[in-house]
Amino acid sequence: MRKKGLMIWLIVILVMCAAVVISGCGARQAMPQEDDGSVIASGDGDNVDVTDEKEEEKETEKNSDTSAETAKNQVKPAEDKSIRGIPDAIDTRTTDDGDLLVVVNKYHAVSNNYTPKNLVTIDDKYGTWKNMQLKGEAYDAYVKLYNDAKAQGFDLKLCSTMRSYETQRTLYNNAVKNKGKEVANIRSAYPGRSEHHTGLAIDVTSASMGWGLKQDFADYPDGKWINEHCQEYGFIIRYPKGKTDITGYDYEPWHLRYVGVEAATYIMENDLTLEEYVGQA
Ligand SMILES: [Zn+2]
Repeated sequence: MRKKGLMIWLIVILVMCAAVVISGCGARQAMPQEDDGSVIASGDGDNVDVTDEKEEEKETEKNSDTSAETAKNQVKPAEDKSIRGIPDAIDTRTTDDGDLLVVVNKYHAVSNNYTPKNLVTIDDKYGTWKNMQLKGEAYDAYVKLYNDAKAQGFDLKLCSTMRSYETQRTLYNNAVKNKGKEVANIRSAYPGRSEHHTGLAIDVTSASMGWGLKQDFADYPDGKWINEHCQEYGFIIRYPKGKTDITGYDYEPWHLRYVGVEAATYIMENDLTLEEYVGQA
């Protein structure tokens, strides 16, 4: 009898253990939902009007079972459309080798101590902030663009230039705090994955846009002019319309990237992304 009683107790204990394990595995957290479409100006996704987020969510759900698997073997930088997530970086640059075509995106990262060479502090008159920094070659090109735009009657300012790892971390953490991790991941670059870190990227705003950032910038005379002429100064529209599956970011007409005149001309004339141009798409 005693042996039988012991067996029963043993079975009860085993059943209880199994129940605890099963409930633990099945625990899920509710996904934070975006509801007001408000601004999180931070990533390379310094986006202001994410209009098709719902579509992205559907797309993400469709791909969610395969995305984690494919991310590690990813050849195309942003083919994984689960851009709300943070895939493993394929590589991480630690030093600036001077390559103007350097790709920094959700798959190609830079380390926290990556410091662009030839960083210069720009004249305060060009920026909406003081002491903004850019790589010298990008700054020189922008000054030419600025002067020619001014001659056309356009009033431009830079609202974002080089962003340090610390700044990216602060922006990302604030986005997570304010909107939750899921939303932050589609709106803000994860620290070390922002192209602004290179010192070759700029966000251009204008008086006509009320010094904000708008997705219809190219419909304004100054935005249209930039869209048509930026390559003459060595800049490209880095996140073009309809290329989110390659760049990982929504259309950003205000975000320009310096790559040099030759590459910029080819990229813009052939409607390419930087990823496609360097063969990483
Ligand atoms: Zn930007």
